[in-house]
Amino acid sequence: MKNLKKYSVPLVIFLTFEAVAVTLWLTKDNLFYLLNFSYIGASVALGVFLFIKKFRYARRVVQLLVGSYMLIYLGLICNENMQIEGFWYYLFTGVFEAATIHYAVAKIFGPLLFGRGWCGYACWTAMILDFLPYKTPARPRKKIGWIRYITFAASLVFVAALFLGRVGHIERVMFWAFIVGNVLYYGVGIALALIFKDNRAFCKYICPVTVFLKPMSYFSLFRVKCDHSKCVNCGRCRRVCPMEVDVTDNSRKRKNGTECILCMECVKNCPKDAL
Ligand code: SF4
Ligand code: SF4
Ligand code: SF4
Repeated sequence: MKNLKKYSVPLVIFLTFEAVAVTLWLTKDNLFYLLNFSYIGASVALGVFLFIKKFRYARRVVQLLVGSYMLIYLGLICNENMQIEGFWYYLFTGVFEAATIHYAVAKIFGPLLFGRGWCGYACWTAMILDFLPYKTPARPRKKIGWIRYITFAASLVFVAALFLGRVGHIERVMFWAFIVGNVLYYGVGIALALIFKDNRAFCKYICPVTVFLKPMSYFSLFRVKCDHSKCVNCGRCRRVCPMEVDVTDNSRKRKNGTECILCMECVKNCPKDAL
């Protein structure tokens, strides 16, 4: 009974994903949804289970399981453009399929519940960037976050131009856009990480998806909070945070609050169990 309580969170996560999997499978009459959401649910539940077991690389396990599945299986093998261009593409064609469902669940409405969990546990761009040496930023943050609005607009203009220009074989173009887009993301992401000595520089300044993620995660139900009766203000949580969040401030307006990727580094490192 005690064990059941202890592992209730991964169980609930798995069952929630299963509910989504079965619902989409039956409503859309497509077995893919059952397999897809079952796999992702099992991966996330496994990660939470490993976290409870205090396995150091629990988050990385989930990130690699989900990120590589999306990049290699969905993107390269199934030719689904899961980048933001793919989202615009399916939106314009009016097809509520993989990329639009993925965006709705992981990046638009999901963050109301689990914040930027996507960024901490599933993104295939960050999956590679997190291998780099600057796990916490070694230099102060730059005020260049506005670049994300340019990349966001560029992705929209690119897809709109394909439709307005009535470009042929548009599905093939989207597949190559996925390949080129990913190569660019990795190239720019790695270069920025090395220049700014910060693995997550791409996430902070360039990533167009944050235009959705940041405002939605502001209202996130699940967030790390500080118990001020235990906190001794040692500042360790802020020092280990890859996103420079002031997690000791419980207000929604806390510094860099919409950047939290729920990596739990602050929780693991707090000497007083105050988080
Ligand atoms: S900010 Fe963008 S690149 Fe970074 S983890 Fe989130 S979705 Fe991935
Ligand atoms: S690490 Fe813990 S004790 Fe130290 S400032 Fe953060 S919440 Fe407070
Ligand atoms: S260290 Fe804490 S505050 Fe910083 S991103 Fe991770 S979970 Fe969020």
